[in-house]
Amino acid sequence: MRVLLVEDDAMIGDSVRQALRQEGFTVDWVRDGEAGLAAATSSQDGEACYDLVLLDLGLPRRSGLDVLHALRTRGVPTPVLILTARDAVADRVAGLNAGADDYLVKPFDLQELAARMHALARRAAGRAEPLVTYGEIVLNPSTREVTQRGEPVRLSAREFALLSALMSRPGKVWSVPQLQERLYGWDDEVGSNTVEVYIHALRKKLGAALIRNIRGVGYVVPRLDGEGEPG
Ligand code: CA
Repeated sequence: MRVLLVEDDAMIGDSVRQALRQEGFTVDWVRDGEAGLAAATSSQDGEACYDLVLLDLGLPRRSGLDVLHALRTRGVPTPVLILTARDAVADRVAGLNAGADDYLVKPFDLQELAARMHALARRAAGRAEPLVTYGEIVLNPSTREVTQRGEPVRLSAREFALLSALMSRPGKVWSVPQLQERLYGWDDEVGSNTVEVYIHALRKKLGAALIRNIRGVGYVVPRLDGEGEPG
């Protein structure tokens, strides 16, 4: 899951980013409202770059509420979780009214933040169920465990990130740059392993039929009902 963190406090920003990375999220961090709005409205191949925005309210250059208003006015549907100060009840209410999906009061527990993020992602994907299931493969986004026919499958963090993107939307063809976006944040060192190498590893571990290569376009986990399958 690729997340945009908009937070001007260096200590909070740094600890949130660290913790979320360890949880397997890909995190980009900006420190003012203008940069936040620009990043949150950016898209690639017609799709929003982020699965979720973590938005502080007290921000330089443009307030978090202002960013939120602008996002919703422009029709950006990305889930937004606001991070607020304890005494700012009015701001919290205003944030929810302006289209925020959830909020957390500072100082917050990082485990709770991750759990709420998973819940929001689930809701955005229209799933009530915490597990993502595809045929005999079951993926748990919170624990990052994968099983096939009930047997655990060991995946690296990048393999897991790639698989969860692909499995979250069967039938969607992902371009290689789109998949790369799911793997690396701005500050991450891009490893020498390419998307193709991770796909190869996933096929080897989970079966070659799971992920199809659409020549010149990208990769897809086919829909199980066979509908909307390309080619
Ligand atoms: Ca702030």
